[in-house]
Amino acid sequence: MSYIEPAPIKDKENPLESMMSRFQIAAEHLGLNQQIYNVLKSPVKQVIVTLPITMDNGQIEVFEGYRVIHSNILGPSKGGIRMDMDVNLDEVKALAAWMTWKCAVVDIPFGGAKGGIKCDPGIMSAGEMERLTRSYTMALQEIFGPDRDIPAPDMGTGPREMAWLMDQYSRSYGMTINAVVTGKPVVLGGSLGRTEATGRGVMVTALAAMEKLKLNPFKATCAVQGFGNVGSWAALLLDERGVKIVALSDISQAYYNEKGINISDAVAYQQAHKGSLIGFSGAEVMPADELLFLDVDVLVPAAVEDVITVHNAKDIKARLIVEGSNGPTSAKADKILNDLGILSVPDILANAGGVTVSYFEWVQNRLGYKWTGERVNRRSDRIMKDAFNNVYETALQYDVSLRIAAYIVAIDKVAKTYTFRGGF
Ligand code: GLU
Repeated sequence: MSYIEPAPIKDKENPLESMMSRFQIAAEHLGLNQQIYNVLKSPVKQVIVTLPITMDNGQIEVFEGYRVIHSNILGPSKGGIRMDMDVNLDEVKALAAWMTWKCAVVDIPFGGAKGGIKCDPGIMSAGEMERLTRSYTMALQEIFGPDRDIPAPDMGTGPREMAWLMDQYSRSYGMTINAVVTGKPVVLGGSLGRTEATGRGVMVTALAAMEKLKLNPFKATCAVQGFGNVGSWAALLLDERGVKIVALSDISQAYYNEKGINISDAVAYQQAHKGSLIGFSGAEVMPADELLFLDVDVLVPAAVEDVITVHNAKDIKARLIVEGSNGPTSAKADKILNDLGILSVPDILANAGGVTVSYFEWVQNRLGYKWTGERVNRRSDRIMKDAFNNVYETALQYDVSLRIAAYIVAIDKVAKTYTFRGGF
């Protein structure tokens, strides 16, 4: 079956094109009906808002904000809000579609969405961030809603911004509506276990994949690219299970210690130094890019998109890649990694632990009840393991990579639901 719109082949892939080319391959394996393909390839709604904010110096600065709902067929749409200078509509569209597939892979009743504001949170004061978050919430109050569209944190945002969002939304409706957003501070109805959830899912899927590869965690080495929320939790939890973390990196540089880095020390150091690892003495400094090419068993990219590309994929020596971030591997690099026999646990599976616990947060808010951290972890580990096994079996059945298998599982679920619900 051929599709009208083949993914453009370019040197530098943009995330939307990368996502679409995988979608297309999976759609062909599924023999997806062209009409359903056409429905699923476009977002159902794209909103762009202009947000004039009075900065601390009294000047008015104008920001552009986005919210893209890719699909709400499976339920209310779900996805984070990214604040970063690189935010653009194409990226938000890709990330929104990824959320649809992610929620479908782990079988939770949500569609996919993503929001973004082009700004630099690193140079903004708390007051400026608060005004920006509240103004974005006001601009989108008709879009958001516990049964419509439920935001969460993403790059550049965290519990603090989610608290402002929840408060602003609740003020507009004259009552406390905490189920409108997830990733809130625990006192405001956030879920225990949400902070570490994405990293925990990375650990669970990494161990499941290592079992398939017959890699003993107690003898395995691992490099983690990115030491933000996902990377640091993945490193801590993998380390706890015996995996030796020999390298990690933040934006500026990488750190290497053949004997294994003490992750708790690295986290403590980072917390004491405004989020930076510069000066950390538990490892040797190495150029950031070299981390990807270390001779380790497991590589966890947990930083930004498009770091494993057609230009460097051939230099990767890890046996297993577990994608903590969204879109770290460009579509054209997939084939190179497959040919090298490197197993990749794709982003839409590996980092779905975050949205899984977001789902639990939403459930708890709606129940007006609080689960223990133990219950949250037990249930999310089960979901992640089941999702991994399902994707693994699908890969064997269709003789495809885990990535294409994850897309097959997700697209099949969304397409079947669409067929039952029907359109106009
Ligand atoms: N931003 C996270 C992600 O990309 C979490 C989304 C959510 O919890 O809704 O998966």
